[in-house]
Amino acid sequence: MAYVKFSEGRKFIGRVPFQADLLDYLTGFANDHGIRAGQVMALGAVSEAVVGYYDQHKRTYFNIPYHRHLEILNLTGNISLKDGKSFVHAHVTLSDEDGHAFGGHLMPGTTVFACEFIIHEYLTEQDLNREFDQDTGLGLWKL
Ligand code: ZN
Repeated sequence: MAYVKFSEGRKFIGRVPFQADLLDYLTGFANDHGIRAGQVMALGAVSEAVVGYYDQHKRTYFNIPYHRHLEILNLTGNISLKDGKSFVHAHVTLSDEDGHAFGGHLMPGTTVFACEFIIHEYLTEQDLNREFDQDTGLGLWKL
């Protein structure tokens, strides 16, 4: 079976500092608080963004940079373990000045203008460890 059961752990609500790198901040927060599994939600605005798109043929991410001010309509993500450390996997939906929405896999290089986040810690019956998956080329949960 490819799932684990969990119970609710701690819950955090906070603000990402001005000009912080969004992914770096969330990853650091998870590691600083020893969060081994959980859920991440956020909204706000960024002064620039980098999202990734996974090319399933080439089995690699390519980056899509946006050097412009954007809203974070939604960030949804999870926390698990990779190489023994807390690892945040997040996707973002962004919008521009015309209200057009787009997004992708959150990459380093996304600079926060203002961002409010909520993290729910999950206490899992076994660790969610990311390992290389032969079928996809991705780091997926070994369950
Ligand atoms: Zn992703």
